[in-house]
Amino acid sequence: MNVAESLEAFVTWRETVGGRLGLVPTMGALHDGHLSLVRRARRETDRVVTTIFVNPTQFGSSDDLKAYPRDLDRDLTLLREERVDCVFTPGEAMMYPGDFSTWVVVERLDRAYFGEKDYQQLRVVERLVRDLNVRTEIVPCPTVRESDGLAMSSRNVHLAPEDRRAALVLFRALSAARDACHAGEPSGEALGRLVAETIGREPRARADYVAVADPRTLEPVTRVGRGGAVCLLAVWVGSVRLIDNVLLGSPG
Ligand code: AMP
Repeated sequence: MNVAESLEAFVTWRETVGGRLGLVPTMGALHDGHLSLVRRARRETDRVVTTIFVNPTQFGSSDDLKAYPRDLDRDLTLLREERVDCVFTPGEAMMYPGDFSTWVVVERLDRAYFGEKDYQQLRVVERLVRDLNVRTEIVPCPTVRESDGLAMSSRNVHLAPEDRRAALVLFRALSAARDACHAGEPSGEALGRLVAETIGREPRARADYVAVADPRTLEPVTRVGRGGAVCLLAVWVGSVRLIDNVLLGSPG
């Protein structure tokens, strides 16, 4: 397994190998959710590249960024076990040089794998690829959950035992919305309220946002129609902010 710490090293590696390239971008602290993407890429492409970059622009506060779990050695061991071909671990200075304004590097990717857990990210990347005519297929992958329903996340390690229990409220709330929709409740507002109320009953949790949106445009929906909807939420559980989502109805 090649470990490329710079773009030059990655490009050099790329020039030495042929075949279809599958990309799995991550922020490290890998779990089975990430590995499900890697395994799918392994099945569907000839060369699997995983990137590990804790992207500062994805964090609201510098404390949150500092506290993000990091364990590169463990990540590399897991990726070696999955027979990943190359791990790209760029540094911050390389990704965000002081004077950058625009930067798009598309290295003959064939497919890039993204988890549905980060639903808005997935849709934004799809839009970007379409609008910039990037010839890469974006492959959405289902959310991998713990056996009790909690979506796997690198942030789960920060949950204190009581908060780990309380964190189940996300799955409970989303399941309630899915069941209500299935039982015939079409109102986006009513479904959102049901979710917010379910979260409100868990004293250790505080909803950051709850949205019932169009699965493609992410615009709020007043009524869940034939195209279905996605219920998205972000919830603080103790000091940890967790996100999750579920599809409602049948998206076309
Ligand atoms: P992250 O390291 O959190 O930025 O996630 C990297 C990629 O793994 C993203 O495409 C995520 O959507 C995906 N991912 C994270 N957690 C899960 C999960 N529980 N199930 C499926 N994909 C996930």
